[in-house]
Amino acid sequence: MSPTIVSAAAKTGPKKAVAAQAKEAAAEPAEPPAPGVRSETIRKGDTLGAVLTRAGAPNNQAADAFSALRNVFNPKDLQIGQKVEIELASAETEGNLDLKRLFLPVSVERDVEIVKGENGYIAKEIVRPLKTVMIRGGGTIDSSLFVSGTENGIPVEMMMEMIRIFSFDVDFQRDIQPGDGYELVYEQRQTDAGKVAKFGRLQYASMTLSGTTIKLYRFEDGSGFVDYYNGKGESVRKALLKTPIDGAKITSSFGARRHPILGYTAMHKGIDFGAPSGTPIMAAGDGTIRKYGPNGAYGNYVQIQHNGTYSTAYAHMSRFADLRVGSRVRQGQIVGYVGTTGRSTGPHLHYEVMVDGTQINPLSVKLPSGRALAGKELKQFQGIMQELDRKMLTLPEPAQLAQARE
Ligand SMILES: [Zn+2]
Repeated sequence: MSPTIVSAAAKTGPKKAVAAQAKEAAAEPAEPPAPGVRSETIRKGDTLGAVLTRAGAPNNQAADAFSALRNVFNPKDLQIGQKVEIELASAETEGNLDLKRLFLPVSVERDVEIVKGENGYIAKEIVRPLKTVMIRGGGTIDSSLFVSGTENGIPVEMMMEMIRIFSFDVDFQRDIQPGDGYELVYEQRQTDAGKVAKFGRLQYASMTLSGTTIKLYRFEDGSGFVDYYNGKGESVRKALLKTPIDGAKITSSFGARRHPILGYTAMHKGIDFGAPSGTPIMAAGDGTIRKYGPNGAYGNYVQIQHNGTYSTAYAHMSRFADLRVGSRVRQGQIVGYVGTTGRSTGPHLHYEVMVDGTQINPLSVKLPSGRALAGKELKQFQGIMQELDRKMLTLPEPAQLAQARE
């Protein structure tokens, strides 16, 4: 008999599920709301008003409580799965309920509460002050930096920030060897009870690659601009990014090669990055757009002038970003998307770096570095760096690094 039921259920599955859900929802009010404290969970499509009514609060009280709540909480911020505590008492009229209190935990640092007073409902906010705690993390790399960070319990935001600041100097596909290490110090914002509310700033990060350690420190300069600097006070930011595309593999390098379409040996004047069509392409550096449109064998093409010497070009794009010749672009800004327009065998980015108009190998170019701190700012930076180095010694060493040293 049971196989018959299974097949019948499978046939009318979704319908039955909906019917069962409706039944379940309909069954709830049958349970008469009783005085006491109830915990409700916000469901899909719920409003606080609906939850209050479901719990048994009279409609007019639910409306009054809701309007008081708006003073401390935006109803749009209500999340599915969020818990609400509702306190109901027996009303003077026999069989009716009286809404006494509504308690809504909003986040680790904040709760809101509505309490019935003599003259209606009063909204209260319970804010727990947060303190900043420094956390020292790190480990050794077996497969990728990101994977190791996750395994060592480092928040994703901090790993992303670390990858961003090192990507000017480190080619994450080619420079990292198994056994390389990294370390970082970041802020954690927590309550007095030690509950973590959020993560703060990445203060320090280092990478040890094939025995050489690069250390970077966060510093905010006099104009409020935040950057990461090495021990000598030089910014990690380079005039040009190492790769203007995220996570792509080099499929063809610079130099003489047998052309895949033309068949004969010719000079390949750029590097090709294989990536799916539509992958965003970033401006390698700040600059001004000099060419922006279809360009023969290059297909859809962008050329950016970065300064008196350097310019970069991006070819075979599927489409452009909303820019034009003369537009100013910032480093990392999206200028277009990977495609296979022009003379191309498949979706890829053909990327060129030019010095005074002549293509050079983008991988061998000695990139001019960003600014170096000097004078008063350098002194300030050195102070911050020394303090951080001192503080780091007082923080527990990441377990994996301690182990690796034994
Ligand atoms: Zn190419």
